[in-house]
Amino acid sequence: MAQINIDTEVQYVKGVGPQRAVLLEKLGIKSVRDLLYYLPRDWVDRSNLTPIIKARPGELETLQGVVIASETRQVRPRLRITRVTIKDHTGFISGVWYNQPYIEKVLKRGFEVIFHGKIDTYRNYLQIAGPEYEIMDDEPGESNTSVNMNRIVPIYPLTDKLYQKQLRRIIKNALDIYLPALSDDMPVSVIKKYSLAGLKASIYSLHFPENFESLKAGKRRIVFDEFFYLQLAFLLRRLGIKKEKGIIFASAGGMYDNFIKSLPFGLTGAQKRVLSEIGADVISGSPMNRLLQGDVGSGKTIVALAACVMAKQGDFQSAIMAPTEILAQQHFRSSDALFKGQGITCGFLSGAMPKAKRAKIIERIGNGEIDIVIGTHALIQDDVIFRNLGLVVIDEQHRFGVMQRMALVKKGREPVHSLIMTATPIPRTLSMTVYGDTDVSIIDEMPPGRKPIKTHVFESGDTGTIYSFLEQRLRNGEQVYAVYPLVAESEKVDLKSAIEMEKELSARFRDFKTAIIHGRMKKDERDAVMTSFRNKQTDILVATTVIEVGIDVPDASVIMIEHADRFGLSQLHQLRGRVGRGEKQSYCILVGDPHTEDSIKRLKTMEETQDGFKISEKDLEIRGPGEFLGTRQHGISEFKVANIFTDRSELFLAREAASAVVDGLDDGHQDEKERLENIIRQRYGDSFDLINIG
Ligand code: ADP
Ligand code: MG
Repeated sequence: MAQINIDTEVQYVKGVGPQRAVLLEKLGIKSVRDLLYYLPRDWVDRSNLTPIIKARPGELETLQGVVIASETRQVRPRLRITRVTIKDHTGFISGVWYNQPYIEKVLKRGFEVIFHGKIDTYRNYLQIAGPEYEIMDDEPGESNTSVNMNRIVPIYPLTDKLYQKQLRRIIKNALDIYLPALSDDMPVSVIKKYSLAGLKASIYSLHFPENFESLKAGKRRIVFDEFFYLQLAFLLRRLGIKKEKGIIFASAGGMYDNFIKSLPFGLTGAQKRVLSEIGADVISGSPMNRLLQGDVGSGKTIVALAACVMAKQGDFQSAIMAPTEILAQQHFRSSDALFKGQGITCGFLSGAMPKAKRAKIIERIGNGEIDIVIGTHALIQDDVIFRNLGLVVIDEQHRFGVMQRMALVKKGREPVHSLIMTATPIPRTLSMTVYGDTDVSIIDEMPPGRKPIKTHVFESGDTGTIYSFLEQRLRNGEQVYAVYPLVAESEKVDLKSAIEMEKELSARFRDFKTAIIHGRMKKDERDAVMTSFRNKQTDILVATTVIEVGIDVPDASVIMIEHADRFGLSQLHQLRGRVGRGEKQSYCILVGDPHTEDSIKRLKTMEETQDGFKISEKDLEIRGPGEFLGTRQHGISEFKVANIFTDRSELFLAREAASAVVDGLDDGHQDEKERLENIIRQRYGDSFDLINIG
């Protein structure tokens, strides 16, 4: 008997052939395995079709009958109504479509069809407006009964040229022949412990469920699999990292203690906790791979600098990379001041530096004179060579790509420790699926004495009130940010723009100095504007979201964000974090005219809480992970069936299961480890490099 191979090209499945194989490939289906994993987007219960006479207005029904009339009428100059009437042995009903005359050609008299939709009435007759429909007539040589009728029927996501019926038939053929060859890679212990349904039965049930019970069990199994293998991949990679030899720093000692003592404030409990986590990593003997999350203003920078001191005590250099010139300079200025007289030398490197100055810095990095280099992307250029880099810190990591991070990490001669920092709190469910191989530290406590930022939502008609409030603050010597969604006016959308509003605001506030900053300006222009704002030469800074990241101006106490309903919540939270950095009471004024209940609720969330984690949960819920992360960081963390909200409890179970499996892989289990690694490679291909991350 010929070996049945589930990775056979899909064209060899009965009913496919070379032409349909091309159509299937467009759906991402190349092999039989892909086909079996091409799962329905919905299921319709046709196991007991309603007789037409029993259809009730207002109910969602699935009805079947023969087309007895099909016609289109021009009712008004721009309205054509197509009415297709079907009949079964109990009665008749019409499907009605507006301005879709082609339907008449599709649903011809005599065809057996199914309508699915909400029943309503028109002049005492039953009808369904725009029903989903399907023609039930058999293709030559194919029988409908088993896959299209009298059962729960799958509805696949499809493009044109391929019909539900055809795909159902093809998938049924593939299941009949190939499903027995699908091997279940899940460790038996996991199947038992978590009471998972069998893989073959689950795949079958997802396509052609016996009943809704078995559909549910099948779905759960596939959801669990999706989460489990991703977590397994992360944890195997983490194991790989832990096996590498890590540089040893000194996490305590004279220089470190002096640094902590010299700080103008005491560390918060959260900062201390995170530092002890980092301290344990850098003496553990394996490389640190840690994500530090903490809200804007929670004091991540000090933590990073303290880690750099640990490196210095181990006689290693550190590099801190920030996404913008301004931010890098800000870090450099504050660090340079903090390290004065402590025998630690900081250096600054950016793309905007004069050549000679840059060359000098690079030389001092190379000969080890500089202990901590702070800079922008300029740090990853080829000619920047460290004497002995031991620690890499990436600030606002979501602004960098994976490649850029890697490029900096690779500047170490040995595997370096890395600390990546973000002020966008990532809900745990999401961080598990994006940073599953990374240890996570959280600063969940603000430095003492911070006054909560008072946040208020206004409507665009409230300008008078808002402006007189701004005037009051300005007269009090405070500074104001005014944020707009657009740089310049646009014909496409009716939104206020920074350029337009800068004119308005400078006319309204004549006694004060106004400046503008946006992404279309040159970098050095932007830097000059920022500098003048920081030095209080400017009172009102009109901006687009370019001010989003990290800028620290203590006297800026008001931020006004117009068209606030156009921004994501996390983005609003980030923007709001530009104020509230000094002693003064700060204010966030959100101006918007939300049109939906949802967007009103969203803005209310901002009034109610300053907890970045709560806000990000909400944001993730509303916008989904892709939008939330901005850039796709790992293509692999996309799920076909699983949903990190509705299936979150499965996610935690899958993580737990994968941890137990990986923990069980001590040196005696090399075979099992290789087996699992192969499964991961097969599932994720090259996107998951198990061994070499450094
Ligand atoms: P972020 O986490 O947003 O990067 P920063 O590190 O820039 O926050 O810190 C924000 C401000 O809080 C800085 O001015 C910093 O000096 C100050 N700060 C940090 N830690 C403390 C602390 N424990 N007590 C008081 N102020 C602190
Ligand atoms: Mg910061």
